Amino acid sequence: MDFTDLGLGPELLKAIEDIGYTSPTPIQEKAIPIILMARDMIGLAQTGTGKTASFTLPMIEMLASGRARSRMPRSLVLAPTRELAAQVAENFDKYGKYHPLSKALLVGGESMGDQIKILEKGVDVLIATPGRLLDLFDRGQILLTDIRILVIDEADRMLDMGFIPDIETIVSKIPATRQTLLFSATMPDEIKSLSEKFLSNPKTVSVAPPASPAQTVDHRMVSAAPRTKKTQLKKLIESEDIKNAFVFCNRKRDVDSLSKWLCDHGYRAAAMHGDMPQARRTETLQAFKDGGVILLVCSDIAARGLDVSGVSHVFNFDVPLNADDYVHRIGRTGRAGQSGKAWTLVTEDDDKLVAAIRKVTGKDIVVESAMAAEASGRTRARNPAGESNEADVPVKQRARAPSKSSSSSGAHGKAAASSARATAQAITQGAAQPDAASHARRSSNTTSPINNNKKPARHYTDDVFDENTDNYFTDDTVPAFLRK
Ligand code: AMP
Repeated sequence: MDFTDLGLGPELLKAIEDIGYTSPTPIQEKAIPIILMARDMIGLAQTGTGKTASFTLPMIEMLASGRARSRMPRSLVLAPTRELAAQVAENFDKYGKYHPLSKALLVGGESMGDQIKILEKGVDVLIATPGRLLDLFDRGQILLTDIRILVIDEADRMLDMGFIPDIETIVSKIPATRQTLLFSATMPDEIKSLSEKFLSNPKTVSVAPPASPAQTVDHRMVSAAPRTKKTQLKKLIESEDIKNAFVFCNRKRDVDSLSKWLCDHGYRAAAMHGDMPQARRTETLQAFKDGGVILLVCSDIAARGLDVSGVSHVFNFDVPLNADDYVHRIGRTGRAGQSGKAWTLVTEDDDKLVAAIRKVTGKDIVVESAMAAEASGRTRARNPAGESNEADVPVKQRARAPSKSSSSSGAHGKAAASSARATAQAITQGAAQPDAASHARRSSNTTSPINNNKKPARHYTDDVFDENTDNYFTDDTVPAFLRK
């Protein structure tokens, strides 16, 4: 089937062509004609199937006629997290580039004043997380009486995150004569009853999940002692051929401290968790997408559903407490049929969690010893002829090319990459090095590889630089042969 068979107008077809999609995904094939008929619909599909376009494309088509009125949006998309809401908003921008539609993104952590100004002008599409939307509603800044299309995205995650009462309140304020679309990866009883309550005679379409990350990802586990986990992570990073990676921690405070530690050791790392201001989260994610940040250290909540293409690795600094989170974490790599690799650091207290992961993935993942893990990483990083390739160069010393997903090419690409690096530097300096004294300790004539220079960060003025290993050694680690 072709996009031209789905009933979309020429402007949308042109936008799709510009993006380069050649054919609709199964969920798009099934959902778009139903939505264009103004039917209610339940879409059983998860991220990675193209489900966002399956509702944004027909919504743009339907909203193309008609005009927005001040503070009375015409359609509403509810998403569980700020990042997912932002992704939906990006989709509207991408596909709606030939339509003069206006939209507002209402998420926590961003200025309410700015959001109110946009609402005053009138918006066609409102994309919101439930909490911020209710806040604005309670302050009398928004009326939902003109909503004609309601989308509840990732309903099962909304349930996990405790948003169902908020959703019920929001829906009670929307006119009953509307079109409602509900998307969910799974259909637990609570979501089933929600859909019976809010949808009228819905059509259900379901698509198989995309190739399970459990199949496309190389799962590895390595035993680790709690006190030496950071060093061990660093060794793993150095033994692997990394393009970019998510590094997951179970606790927010560990996200901050690990990110800072990695920066201090010369890596282009940045932290992302739910307590950070939204503007910083957005900036960090963009820097990661653009290649300025290579290691994104994050909590589960910050990474939910994020669609970053071509991520080569996932490191679980902590074994996730919930085996489903493991599947979710490793699904950040190995997307769209590409291969990816996931390393999990396992301590002796993690036996039960590891058993749960083995059960959920159906894979008997062996916990390797630290030495075996590093050695196997190094061996795999060489090409079959045994010659060293770029993988032999530690990731922190490599000059990074911008990721393919960014629009960077030629001179513009270089500018984008350098601005991404500058952003990464700003982010890491702002987020991970709040202490001016620690900053001052850095030597002014050496810059960290965050700046894309060769030498890693020098911590103390008496650190010794070893040309052979391209490393600074601090007082306590400097090898005897280098001591002054
Ligand atoms: P989603 O499931 O909405 O998170 O989309 C997953 C990825 O698929 C996104 O990066 C989209 O840009 C991409 N995508 C959506 N529709 C298509 C299509 N028809 N052909 C190729 N890629 C697509």
